[in-house]
Amino acid sequence: MEADKLVKLAIVVPCYNEEEVLPETVSRLTRFVDDLKSKGKAAEDSAIYFVDDGRQDSTWSLIQGFADKHDAVKGVKLSRNRGHQNALLAGLHVAKGDAIISIDADLQDDIQVMETMVDRFVEGNDVVYGVRSSREKDSFFKRSTAQLYYKVLHAFGVEVVFDHADYRLLSRRALNDLKSYSEVNFFLRGVVPTLGYKSCKVTYARQERFAGESKYPLRKMLALALDGITSFSAVPLKMIAALGVIMFLVSLGISIWAVGAKLFSDGVVPGWTSSVLPMYLLGGIQLLSLGVVGEYVAKIYMETKRRPRYFIEEEI
Ligand code: UDP
Ligand code: MG
Repeated sequence: MEADKLVKLAIVVPCYNEEEVLPETVSRLTRFVDDLKSKGKAAEDSAIYFVDDGRQDSTWSLIQGFADKHDAVKGVKLSRNRGHQNALLAGLHVAKGDAIISIDADLQDDIQVMETMVDRFVEGNDVVYGVRSSREKDSFFKRSTAQLYYKVLHAFGVEVVFDHADYRLLSRRALNDLKSYSEVNFFLRGVVPTLGYKSCKVTYARQERFAGESKYPLRKMLALALDGITSFSAVPLKMIAALGVIMFLVSLGISIWAVGAKLFSDGVVPGWTSSVLPMYLLGGIQLLSLGVVGEYVAKIYMETKRRPRYFIEEEI
């Protein structure tokens, strides 16, 4: 982008029953954006988009009230609760701006690092990841399960940024590319690194939730974790295929041995070969067949995503 043009910033905040934190979040974010404007780092028409993810409390009426008071505050209301990832996606689709930052409503992520994010964007990064430098404020359970989860994702070949959740800056073109992913099970954390482009990380210490309680109970956390694996990796299917091949070879070996024992040794109990042989052979064949079917399912699964195959970063 041109050097003299101010960055039009958009901040997207998914909110699910966040009436307790919302007033503080709005006041801090609007102050922050005003601050950036006065420093000449953000354009006048920069905006903050609050996405109400299916209200059960007064979240939406609060957003309406704040939108009346501040020009920079915009609201998006989903027809019902669709979950954090979908709410975020809706906000990203609606947001207008050169640089779009997504952040949780609960003030756990240090909003001051957004300034650094914008600086990094101006320096030419298309994606800036907010990474937690310490997880001291998280419970031991959350910390250890998160760590294990990153390791599992890594083992399954899903590219994710360690200790990065959904606090990130995307450039307009990165966001437009993101929109061309048509998959329904959208796992943002996994998709963003596949976009490519120049990217960098900024670190911050994660705080405790400002007010209210986590909107991510264990059930939702597990669902997100499973989504991360199954919407990105066919490795579990491939593991069945590999197991099938191994078991087939083993059972073939055992079958040959059973026949050999029958033919060449005298001590075989009558009926042993005819009961043991089909057991191993059939087991092996079944698992192998399952593996072959799994390979095709894996292909179908990848095809149905219709993921874009490339993005052009530059042309000369
Ligand atoms: N959230 C949402 N829809 C949901 C659950 C959560 O939009 O169904 C939002 C929530 O309002 C918050 C963000 O997602 O802005 C992260 O949730 P939370 O802070 O409760 O998760 P935690 O930090 O405990 O993992
Ligand atoms: Mg939180």
